[in-house]
Amino acid sequence: MFFKDNRNVYRAGGLASFSWLEHGFGTRDAADWPDPWRLVMLNQIHSDQIVRVDGGRGYLGEGDALVTDRPGVLVGIRTADCVPILIADPERHAVAAVHAGWRGTLDQIARKAVEKLAAEYGSKPANLHAAIGPAIGPCCYEVGPEVSERFRIFLPDLPVGGKTHLDLIDLNRRQLAGGGIDPGKIYSTGSPCTKCGPPELHSYRRDGPKAGRMISAIGVL
Ligand SMILES: [Zn+2]
Repeated sequence: MFFKDNRNVYRAGGLASFSWLEHGFGTRDAADWPDPWRLVMLNQIHSDQIVRVDGGRGYLGEGDALVTDRPGVLVGIRTADCVPILIADPERHAVAAVHAGWRGTLDQIARKAVEKLAAEYGSKPANLHAAIGPAIGPCCYEVGPEVSERFRIFLPDLPVGGKTHLDLIDLNRRQLAGGGIDPGKIYSTGSPCTKCGPPELHSYRRDGPKAGRMISAIGVL
């Protein structure tokens, strides 16, 4: 289950119990979080590019997911409707932050982040915990045929032509599970829809080009 802490940051109960870990999904009202002096992000390009971070701060090139095992470093991503995913490995003390819009979902960036943690840090997928933060829900995520047709490789029963609703959260949950994470360790329950949920969440679909972005970040303490 998700809860909101006293800094107006959403946190997943399944990750909050780890004393070695810091994580959160920011809101419009997030106060003093995440610490900009420790935050590393990327210029997001809706790709499946994943960057290993060994230090630094600020923007570290292009891509849509970051992994690190360096204490004190926060890896973060910015979203307003796209799916933010934070992954933690309690055995290796390694973490990942993933930005998955429809293109990233189509490119299976969530699954590739699990593989990247294994390749860089020897993480076993079965040990990983993943939290899917506030994103646009199937209630509000209507797409046209040009998008839905591309998702028929995952969802063969999607109707042909016309508008339909996609569930990017469930698609990413399935990718994380497909990558080997125990479904019981994939947390999304209680994470609100950005568009029809509380106004403290930024939504591109609701607010248009003037929409802000929420920062979701994770790091080893
Ligand atoms: Zn909604």
